[in-house]
Amino acid sequence: RTKIHQRGSCTLFTRSMGIEIRERATLMQHLHKAFDAERLFLMYQPQIDLETGKFTGLEALIRWRTDEGVLIPPNDFIPLAEYSGLIISLGAWVLRTACFMMVRLQKAGIAPQRMGVNVSVVQFRQDDFIDIVEQALRDTGLQPAHLELEITESVTMSSAALFETRLAKLKELGVKIAIDDFGTGFSSLSYLDKLPVDRLKIDRAFVNQIDTPEGPRIAELITQLGKKLGLQVIAEGVEHEIHWKTLAAMGCHEGQGFYIGRPMLEENLVSWINLRK
Ligand code: C2E
Ligand code: MG
Ligand code: MG
Ligand code: MG
Repeated sequence: RTKIHQRGSCTLFTRSMGIEIRERATLMQHLHKAFDAERLFLMYQPQIDLETGKFTGLEALIRWRTDEGVLIPPNDFIPLAEYSGLIISLGAWVLRTACFMMVRLQKAGIAPQRMGVNVSVVQFRQDDFIDIVEQALRDTGLQPAHLELEITESVTMSSAALFETRLAKLKELGVKIAIDDFGTGFSSLSYLDKLPVDRLKIDRAFVNQIDTPEGPRIAELITQLGKKLGLQVIAEGVEHEIHWKTLAAMGCHEGQGFYIGRPMLEENLVSWINLRK
């Protein structure tokens, strides 16, 4: 999560900006400005039931378009936002915006069950994180059960005690919790058993390799683990029909990926939904 310290990430960032920026401070200035200038926006990727094909959920994914029109992927700037603390206000904005979007879809009668929102460990650790979630729900009128927070295993590792109390409060509130990129971190299995987690998201690394002889093993394991623990399981990175079929055959509940639908702007998503009806 501290990608900012890696040279490669900053180089990539600089390249995609199309301008010469070496200083981290300058990068942050650009990011702060982009936030103020509303150069950050959300795209929404659909999730479906692998058995029925039914549209079940969405994941909100942030994007940054620079003044030059270059699209910068979140992996290149979320670490920066985390490092500078901008993630706090950025994260609150993402939550509100995604909740508003969900309410609009509900009003149009085309909403799925839930909207997934990625939450950074830095946000999650903030004292007022629960208040911020509550406020987003209150401001938008979205029912808590339709919001799903996606946290990575790094969150679960950061502090077990804090994690437990935060999760309990979120549960009380009625929001859903998914463990993102599951299988790539180092989480203890004991917490999965006792904590109120609703869903495991199989990392796309394990889906990519699924059509090789020994490829499906990890995805299968995670699916079985989830089922044993009474959790829903969704696979990320469903890029081909064979991925879908293999995952469905192993009993994985849901899928998300380019084969099903790319992250889309609101208007394109609405067409995607209407086309499926
Ligand atoms: P993630 O939460 O695991 O999101 C899934 C990523 O996989 C997204 O990348 C999505 O565009 C990509 N993806 C979806 N289907 C496929 C597929 O079939 N093939 C391939 N190759 N990729 C696929 P994206 O949008 O670039 O986001 C990357 C990461 O950035 C996210 O990973 C998440 O950790 C983080 N992120 C995105 N938006 C936010 C946000 O609003 N807040 C925070 N804190 N993090 C965010
Ligand atoms: Mg996610
Ligand atoms: Mg993921
Ligand atoms: Mg990820």
